[in-house]
Amino acid sequence: MPELPDVEVFRSYFESTSLKQDVEQVDVLDQRILEDISAKNLHEALAGYRFISTTRHGKYMFAKTEGNTWLVLHFGMTGYLHYLTEEDDPPRHTRVLFTFDGENKLAFVDQRILGLVGLTEDPEAFARDRDLGPDALQIKIDEFKELLSGRRGTIKAALTNQAIIAGIGNIYADEILFQSKIHPKTQLSSLSDDDLETLYDQIQTVCQAAIDAEVDVDQMPDWFLLRHREAGERCPRCGAEIETVKVSSRTTYFCPKCQPKR
Ligand SMILES: [Zn+2]
Repeated sequence: MPELPDVEVFRSYFESTSLKQDVEQVDVLDQRILEDISAKNLHEALAGYRFISTTRHGKYMFAKTEGNTWLVLHFGMTGYLHYLTEEDDPPRHTRVLFTFDGENKLAFVDQRILGLVGLTEDPEAFARDRDLGPDALQIKIDEFKELLSGRRGTIKAALTNQAIIAGIGNIYADEILFQSKIHPKTQLSSLSDDDLETLYDQIQTVCQAAIDAEVDVDQMPDWFLLRHREAGERCPRCGAEIETVKVSSRTTYFCPKCQPKR
């Protein structure tokens, strides 16, 4: 499921392939992917314009047109982008196809249709309307501490709650907690100031390392838990057997030795 690092890689991909070409045609192959807009209106809002820049908030990506409208993309569970030349066939499960004036195309592909394609006039207003917290890579340390203080629940649930902090999902929350040596079921009320600083630093470090590896697991650092997310695998730090536990009904991987229960 695409999380912040994945969406950041999609954003770079969009930037390197799809800017500064006139959009000629927008074809919606499955209406269920559209959010609050018709296929006709999506085409009319984008056709004749070029995308000039991109941004991201949490798991949402935005591409700005010269017309000051922003295309909104969310990748759900199975979404991705694929840029094609004139001769290529769009991948199976393409839901929206953007055709540029040179006849190259950008496909928004999403097998399970849990993502979305829409428009907004303002990404920050869109994020507020969606009740998203600050982006995990943009948030400042003081804000991070304030958001987590005085709250109930486990740290794993808080990290994956998009209304508190946007961008982190199941896999990267496990990675951040592993690198921070904090048990996923630790109550927020028992985290020290040092714990919060460690967590903050690891959010930045882990997300950046995953982006630098272009979210290719084989290219990620050896010390990443992500490379060992399987039953019976060994902890890359201490060699203990990795265990799983359910937190907020999600399967959570952790090292019982490095991340002892408090
Ligand atoms: Zn360990």
